Amino acid sequence: MNLNSAVFFDRDNTLNYDPGYLNDPNDVVLFPNVPEGIARLKNEYKFKIIVVSNQSGITRGLLTAEIVDAVNDAINAELQKHSTSVDAFFYCPYHPDFDAPEKVVCRKPSPYMVVKAAEKLNIDLSKSYMVGDKPSDILCGINAGVKTVLIDYNNDKDAINSLKKADKTPNFIASNFSNVCDFIISDYRENLIEN
Ligand SMILES: [Mg+2]
Repeated sequence: MNLNSAVFFDRDNTLNYDPGYLNDPNDVVLFPNVPEGIARLKNEYKFKIIVVSNQSGITRGLLTAEIVDAVNDAINAELQKHSTSVDAFFYCPYHPDFDAPEKVVCRKPSPYMVVKAAEKLNIDLSKSYMVGDKPSDILCGINAGVKTVLIDYNNDKDAINSLKKADKTPNFIASNFSNVCDFIISDYRENLIEN
């Protein structure tokens, strides 16, 4: 059986603007070139597109699972205008301040959601990528054994400075979504030629 390659994305402040605990599907606004980039990765290069998101707003009582699902559906509705979509959304509703350790195990930087998704969608993690805006996204990717891309839309360098202190650096730092996709596609193609 041929395994799939995947790109795992954080959701808030990676795919869509994040007002903080996004609780209305009508407020979903994707960053520039997100639909076009996902269409390239999925429709041209056959990557599975998977979102892995911490949604502790649920355990905090600020969100419900239904709202998170509705926001995810709104993201896919935007992507479908460009004939593409997210294949699967995973989220962790728990937080260590409110929940038992055995529940919080899904929360990034744990690789739990990535590993679950890989089992479910037959993914080869050695040919896959994780993209996010926070250190926890990059650490999740490193913990899962995928290549990592940090997206820093505001160029504030907070995430990269914190990762450097921990001696954990992403494979690439991008300032916009097109850069993310360009890196992944060229890295993927290079590895196809080498192998
Ligand atoms: Mg984020």
